[in-house]
Amino acid sequence: MSEVILSVQNLTANVEGKPILKGVSLEIKAGEIHAIMGRNGSGKSTLSKVLAGHPDYEITGGNIIYKGEEIIGKSPTERANMGIFLAFQYPLEIPGVSNLDFLRVAYNAHRKYQGLEEIDTFDFEDLVEEKLDVVKMSPSFLERSLNEGFSGGEKKRNEVLQMALLEPTLGILDEIDSGLDIDALRIVANGVNKLATDENAFLLITHYQRLLNYIEPQYIHVMHNGQIVTTGGKELALELEESGYDFVEEKLLANA
Ligand code: ADP
Ligand code: MG
Repeated sequence: MSEVILSVQNLTANVEGKPILKGVSLEIKAGEIHAIMGRNGSGKSTLSKVLAGHPDYEITGGNIIYKGEEIIGKSPTERANMGIFLAFQYPLEIPGVSNLDFLRVAYNAHRKYQGLEEIDTFDFEDLVEEKLDVVKMSPSFLERSLNEGFSGGEKKRNEVLQMALLEPTLGILDEIDSGLDIDALRIVANGVNKLATDENAFLLITHYQRLLNYIEPQYIHVMHNGQIVTTGGKELALELEESGYDFVEEKLLANA
């Protein structure tokens, strides 16, 4: 039996006093890829930020168990060190900080947490150059300021590059497909596929079915009004593509 990586249990959370997550439950095992789909405003990004420990979100109930340990109360840095990685829907631009320096600092912080020695600039450059291939990125991106002036696709590729370096146990990708043309989508998706192993897990958040043509999740969950209202396999994404989210809501009403 595969190890449970993430178990979210009846999770509720508020933003600015307003309930957004209204009882989310989800279990992800090692080797699995899950997708969460849902309309804009259904709470998908909120869930990803709550999982990563974003301070603006107040958890009002439930549990987030990561590899057997409750992580509510742990800082975003601790969670990252434990192997949780969130790729942002809108990656930050940081002028004046080179992408290479950023990646090296993040990588070394990780090694330090694991009790390993930091690696120097030269060795790091060799390592990162190997990883560039995962997302077909040119080395010139390493010298540029972090995400500054990067196109939508380049930013997302850079997020996957970070993942390739940090090798998270749980990768959460929020709308990694948004704003990508078909070539960038394919590169990003292939990158994720290359990183997926029997020991890690991914949670893809998207509202388009097309990403799921390139990355095949075993489970698809539909989020509606702060809850996961239905879970299925691949076929659920196709059904959504054909009938839109209305059909899920109609089904729910019919069963209510
Ligand atoms: P999705 O990612 O599914 O489109 P979000 O999680 O971004 O949905 O948003 C869910 C709801 O929470 C929306 O109504 C949104 O306006 C609200 N919300 C999210 N973040 C904040 C915030 N920082 N301040 C106020 N409202 C927020
Ligand atoms: Mg969102």
